[in-house]
Amino acid sequence: MQTTFTPEQLRDPVMARSNDVLRTCVHCGFCTATCPTYQVLGDELDSPRGRIYLIKDMLEKGLPADAKTVLHIDRCLSCLACMTTCPSGVHYMHLVDHAREYIEQTYKRPLFERVLRWTLARILPYPTRFRVALLGAKIGRPFAFLMPDARLKAMLAMAPKVIPPVSRNDDPQVFPAQGTRKMRVALMTGCAQRALNTDINDATIRLLTRLGCDVVIAEGQGCCGALTHHMGKTAESHATASKNIRAWTREMQGEGLDAIVINTSGCGTTVKDYGHMFAGHALSQEAAAVAAIARDVSEVLMQLDLPEGVMGHRVAYHAACSLQHGQKIKTYPKDLLKRAGFKVVEPADSHLCCGSAGTYNLMQPEISGQLKARKVETLEATRPDIIAAGNIGCMMQIGSGTDVPIVHTVELLDWATGGPRPPALDADGKRAVPVPILR
Ligand code: SF4
Ligand code: SF4
Repeated sequence: MQTTFTPEQLRDPVMARSNDVLRTCVHCGFCTATCPTYQVLGDELDSPRGRIYLIKDMLEKGLPADAKTVLHIDRCLSCLACMTTCPSGVHYMHLVDHAREYIEQTYKRPLFERVLRWTLARILPYPTRFRVALLGAKIGRPFAFLMPDARLKAMLAMAPKVIPPVSRNDDPQVFPAQGTRKMRVALMTGCAQRALNTDINDATIRLLTRLGCDVVIAEGQGCCGALTHHMGKTAESHATASKNIRAWTREMQGEGLDAIVINTSGCGTTVKDYGHMFAGHALSQEAAAVAAIARDVSEVLMQLDLPEGVMGHRVAYHAACSLQHGQKIKTYPKDLLKRAGFKVVEPADSHLCCGSAGTYNLMQPEISGQLKARKVETLEATRPDIIAAGNIGCMMQIGSGTDVPIVHTVELLDWATGGPRPPALDADGKRAVPVPILR
């Protein structure tokens, strides 16, 4: 694609990067076939190619973003299915991230939306604030019908019925390896996940220590910055991400780390991109070093000696977009589940997003609801005993639309190797599953 940025514009390294990305697009349109929003809305401007043209136009003109561009960029899930499909290697993620930042800096949203986004950015990345907000939402849920805005209704509807107590396992400490130590890893405990579901980190710690890892919960870590990064709020995103970089750098320079383990794939995609996010920043070297050893938990588990099992349950594996498209990890979670003895099935159109996408299900509830309905239908069609996923956002989204229990992949692997049965399998009278047999 031809671009017409001025030399002065291209002196900005972020603009120069977008120029490079734009120039790799040959506007073939292959990406439209796998774009969820194009499938739902059927509008070229809600396809990757349409958005690329809008972004090009907006950045080249250098004028404040207009309402039409903002509408179609806001509707993008950042699911990155287009990056998997694109034969030209267009790095849409960096382009849309820049577009969101540009919009945030140049476009004045309606007051209600500004307040909503400001509030989300100040609550979601902080587990204690988020926990308080969840309690408020739980109390307010019966009154959701009184809410004047679909987004407020969606926020109340998404509040879980059960809010777990704080897990002290998320406090700074080291969990020693059982038996011979094979690796020393830091576990990213996250933000929203710590308020929504403490079983996932607990299961991850048990599983990794059982398989020979020292698991470090580094002091000072928190939100990876993804939630605010995807809102274009760069200062907020850098502020929280910097804390993580400093926390893990201390550990790397101390006893050393073989990996930073991330069990929320949406966060993993962002941490792996810290090198790009912090280019030219005072922490650029540390950020790149952190990104270089950031691993999804399934990548680390593939390096360890997971025992074979004979669990036997039928597990529908939901591939989170951030894992399959963002990190290109497609087979590891399924391979691990099969090794543990689970019968793994996959839904039709497994490349399509469930509609969760960070704050998307709160900000775009209608499109998100349609994608959720499709995903639940295809998952239930596989007649699973359990649904497994590697991202808390997907688990919340899908779990709100089905009675099939949904758990994190590591909870099943922990169970299969001697850990407790995942609590979610027994909640609310959900379907019972057989007792595991280990060997
Ligand atoms: S598939 Fe790639 S090259 Fe083709 S239009 Fe989409 S982004 Fe551009
Ligand atoms: S990130 Fe997802 S929703 Fe956005 S343009 Fe690409 S495929 Fe479409």
